[in-house]
Amino acid sequence: MQCPICGSENHDRIFRLCDNMKILGKSLPDKEAYVAACNECGLVFTDTIATQENFLSYYKYGAVSPKYYDMFGTDETNHYFEHILSIISSFIANNGKIYDVAGAWGELDKFLSDKGFNDIIVIDPNENCIKTAKNKGLSVSQCSSSDMNERLHEKCDMIILNHTLEHILDVKSAFENMDRLLKDNGYIFIEVPNALSYVDEDAAPFNFLTYEHVLHLTMHDLENLAALYGYEICAKGEYYKKVSNYPSVYVVFNKTGRKGTITYSDLAKNKVMQYIDKSKKSIEAFIKPLRESGEPLILWGIGASTAILIDSFADCNVVALIDRNPMRQGLQFEIGDNLIAVQDPDTVKKGTIVILSIPYHASIEKQIRDSGLKNKIVTLA
Ligand SMILES: [Zn+2]
Repeated sequence: MQCPICGSENHDRIFRLCDNMKILGKSLPDKEAYVAACNECGLVFTDTIATQENFLSYYKYGAVSPKYYDMFGTDETNHYFEHILSIISSFIANNGKIYDVAGAWGELDKFLSDKGFNDIIVIDPNENCIKTAKNKGLSVSQCSSSDMNERLHEKCDMIILNHTLEHILDVKSAFENMDRLLKDNGYIFIEVPNALSYVDEDAAPFNFLTYEHVLHLTMHDLENLAALYGYEICAKGEYYKKVSNYPSVYVVFNKTGRKGTITYSDLAKNKVMQYIDKSKKSIEAFIKPLRESGEPLILWGIGASTAILIDSFADCNVVALIDRNPMRQGLQFEIGDNLIAVQDPDTVKKGTIVILSIPYHASIEKQIRDSGLKNKIVTLA
């Protein structure tokens, strides 16, 4: 495929991500996907035949966005939103028009609205998200970065892409649409996970290669985007997003129309390769005793962030795959020589339960015990 930023076909595949992306929904293709590094601009991205529309169907019907206030509490969440407020308030007045693209449940927008910003529209493709945001008294539009210029007609002063861009495969359409919707001299706030820092984190192996993230971005890539689409960077920095534990980089783009040239950097490729190597070593240390004992294993919680781990269990005695989500039940994975389908928790019999999710491991363990299962449980955490 073409590089989502520079359009070059010239890239190296650095990791095989999966056999197929069916875990994201039945509309996704039954073909392999890779992590690739562009040889022209250095972007690290998911090399897949899946389209933006395929991913969009996942975000419309399959994905559940995190609710920060529920998951991380008021203090942590407000602290995060204060960080965004402190950056954008230098560039936009209270009556400025803001479009928050993939604003999910409208949590940030409610916070900004309470701080006096009175013209915000929450944009999201997911109906539940939009309904919830509307119930908070916010203005909403159910659409995405691909079709927002068909739904929205007024130009805005600022577009917010807060932990959104890394989910967008069709970067070109997104930037063309933003260009049409943004006033001359308008601003775009972008914050994304920092691919250069994955390797420094103590997170679960492969955590940052979740299938949801199709771009693994760095400040270099953001500078290339500014040059390509005619923006000047008027603020930038690094931030540790404690709600959900993401080392991040942010920029504020100012629309000038003056385009520059794209440059190459191999930093992202090298750092992501180091991260992949670290992940392989850490999962091997966890799996080795389980493989050597030959005990029957029940892998629990098969989702966009954990399906990547299944391959590592190829030589283990995996007897079942379990997930609560009925949309995932019935999906089959090849583990070693066996083809195993994801099943409902009610089907669990004998075996050691391996909880794959790190962030949710405590609540999953509680659910398992509450349901009366006495199996031995191990977690990656
Ligand atoms: Zn490129």
